Amino acid sequence: MTRLLPADAVEEAGALLRAGQLVAFPTETVYGLGADARNAAAVAAIYEAKGRPSFNPLISHFAEPEAAFEEVVPDERARLLARHFWPGPLTLVLPRSPRGQVSQLAGAGLETLAVRVPGHEQALAVLRAAGVPIAAPSANPSGGISPTSAQHVLDGLSGRIAAVLEGANCTVGVESTVLDLTGPIAVLLRPGAVTTEAIEALLGERIFRARETAAAPKSPGMLLSHYAPTLPVRINAVSVDEREALLAFGPPMRGAALTFQLSAPGDTTEAATRLFQGLRELDAQGQKLGLDCIAVMAIPMAGLGEAINDRLTRAAAPR
Ligand code: AMP
Ligand code: MG
Repeated sequence: MTRLLPADAVEEAGALLRAGQLVAFPTETVYGLGADARNAAAVAAIYEAKGRPSFNPLISHFAEPEAAFEEVVPDERARLLARHFWPGPLTLVLPRSPRGQVSQLAGAGLETLAVRVPGHEQALAVLRAAGVPIAAPSANPSGGISPTSAQHVLDGLSGRIAAVLEGANCTVGVESTVLDLTGPIAVLLRPGAVTTEAIEALLGERIFRARETAAAPKSPGMLLSHYAPTLPVRINAVSVDEREALLAFGPPMRGAALTFQLSAPGDTTEAATRLFQGLRELDAQGQKLGLDCIAVMAIPMAGLGEAINDRLTRAAAPR
């Protein structure tokens, strides 16, 4: 049962979020489906509730710019934009801080993190009450239309999330502008409510579109590419040898130089919470040991299995 919380129940919404539950709440753009971004199991539950076929990186939301800048490393441009447009519909993609607490899953295993302080009183009150970074994509089933009212959220997700907070309908109604500041040039990843012109006027420099930089030979290159291990990845392995690291799912195959268990009972939700951490650990240790590759046991398509397989297939694609 999904509870419909009255508009003033922000403390309760915050407590549910802190307890690892999913709560949808209004922002000025669309309704967000929130979870404690530090808690990988809670984040996995977002992907599950939305039925996302892949792990898109999620935006982490904060009540204060200072809290956002604990999770990422801001440069001068980021600070200037934050002073001007936060709280508001601008999302900044920045390098993750080594001190950050946001889970790998919330950032889809990337070295970067998207952060935002929303310009909506109720959203800010929920974020203050939660007191933790809140990962929140739009509160609709994957591929559906973004919701701008509590009823829209219930239409799509009733029974799949703990609660939805009633609120004033979202005023902007389109998603936030997403700006990548991880390279020397600022790149617009998604147009939104804050215009390119306004950003360019403030920064005094030109903003590039993602497709312009992909073609440029000296572009920061890695902007959109997901973290890929250095070691080759071999999926659906049915055997493993002592020159390989094993990413196991269920009873592990014998013979690997080292093994990381995604989920001993073979649970795809648990596996999702450990996927990026597992790839990183096997990659780091495997390189140290001079291993040949990371072998991955077959993972069923059930539940989050489809998203896991999507990610693994891309990690295993020819480079
Ligand atoms: P949504 O959660 O549906 O509002 O979508 C979030 C948007 O932010 C998507 O377009 C993501 O690809 C983008 N995004 C989030 N984190 C990152 C990141 N670390 N790097 C690049 N894009 C990101
Ligand atoms: Mg969406």
